[in-house]
Amino acid sequence: MSLVTLPERADVVVVGGGIMGTSAAYFLTTETDLDVLLVEKDKIASGSTGDSSAILRHHYGPKEIYAKTAWWSHRFYREFQERTGEAIAHADSPLVRFGVEGTPEGEYADAGGDVLSSLDVPVTKYDADEFDEQYPMLDLEGVDFAVSDDAAGYSDGTDAAGGFARAAQDAGATVVTGVAVEDFVVEDDAVVGVETNDGAVAAETVVVAAGPWTPRLMARLGVDVPIERTREQVLVLDPPEGFAEEYPDLVPTTGAPGGDWYMRSDFGDGVLVATHHTDETVNPDRYDGSPDQETTLQLLDELEGFAPELAESRVKGQYCGVYSTTPDHDFIVDQVGPDGCFVACGFSGHGFKHGPAVGRILTDLVTEGDTEFVDVDHFSLDRFEDGAAGHGGPGDKI
Ligand SMILES: Cc1cc2nc3c(=O)[nH]c(=O)nc-3n(C[C@H](O)[C@H](O)[C@H](O)COP(=O)(O)OP(=O)(O)OC[C@H]3O[C@@H](n4cnc5c(N)ncnc54)[C@H](O)[C@@H]3O)c2cc1C
Repeated sequence: MSLVTLPERADVVVVGGGIMGTSAAYFLTTETDLDVLLVEKDKIASGSTGDSSAILRHHYGPKEIYAKTAWWSHRFYREFQERTGEAIAHADSPLVRFGVEGTPEGEYADAGGDVLSSLDVPVTKYDADEFDEQYPMLDLEGVDFAVSDDAAGYSDGTDAAGGFARAAQDAGATVVTGVAVEDFVVEDDAVVGVETNDGAVAAETVVVAAGPWTPRLMARLGVDVPIERTREQVLVLDPPEGFAEEYPDLVPTTGAPGGDWYMRSDFGDGVLVATHHTDETVNPDRYDGSPDQETTLQLLDELEGFAPELAESRVKGQYCGVYSTTPDHDFIVDQVGPDGCFVACGFSGHGFKHGPAVGRILTDLVTEGDTEFVDVDHFSLDRFEDGAAGHGGPGDKI
């Protein structure tokens, strides 16, 4: 239990101390006069955010909305210390997408390159020979070209959520950890507070950013949140001797064509390799968080054909985390249920990079009922009404 005591009232209660809840608490506190309370059942970044690979890319194929929010957010992360007073880890590392002419993946890679150019985000297209020269550690048969999102990078989820939470606190928010919100108090179809395991809090606005636990809490209001929770496994590799000397930038952030796994460089000369959208659905309260050997071997096997020298790496760490993915792989950021209730979830394997933008959007929704930042209807929950598939299939496993 944290030493901060739970207040009896607040203007806004934010539920969840992941990147979305802490970012929302930060912007709500710094950009409005509202009295903000952030309630986290465990500790800050104890959900998906703490397990995040925290890749900051902007290439989203033709989906300009995500390129925009990712770019805005990445610039915020780059200036995090100047803006919030809190330092976070950050490294530059390009993200590369491969293309084969005339295939949907090739079109996707090119479309993302065009969007980045139109937004003035640095991007380079390499033909196969140029790519081989640029990234000799990768062994790619049959690839015609590669599109490099040159300004991509990575950060750290625990740093960023912790930084937002401390900055929000410094600006006047109350942050309470070790307390779970269990229910809502609703009167005349409007939220008037929440019930927690440490007492009630009166509030006219509640922002639910509870990650994989969001469906359970929203079910208290009779609101169905259709997200699938999958278990993802991450390996932290210590590359073989000489690798870092030969390739000082280690590896680009990239994934196998087909999209079942990805890798990126890590702080301290490591390389991170991870699954992406497994079919292992889990209950976030009861899943086995320990890595399994079968997946470890599969990932190392994939590496063997892709970056052969890395397959000789020592596995120096491994862990599992949970993705929360909607049927169409698009986010949910919306006002739902009774008046005063907002929800942000379903960020799949790519929410971290949009955290600052989502906090800003939620602040606009709470204060203005809308935002000029993006067309927020794209993130509406009612696109799944009556079991509909939302915007359709994912197109890409984002
Ligand atoms: C292995 C892995 C790798 C990833 N890699 C990337 C990446 O490279 N780039 C990227 O952009 N994204 C990545 N993601 C996705 C990204 O991490 C998530 O989309 C993002 O962290 C989701 O943040 P969140 O705040 O919505 O949820 P969470 O971080 O899960 O936070 C929700 C919080 O709510 C709290 N909570 C839940 N219920 C309650 C309650 N009733 N009362 C109080 N508190 C409650 C939980 O304890 C938790 O701390 C990855 C995710 C995983 C798992």
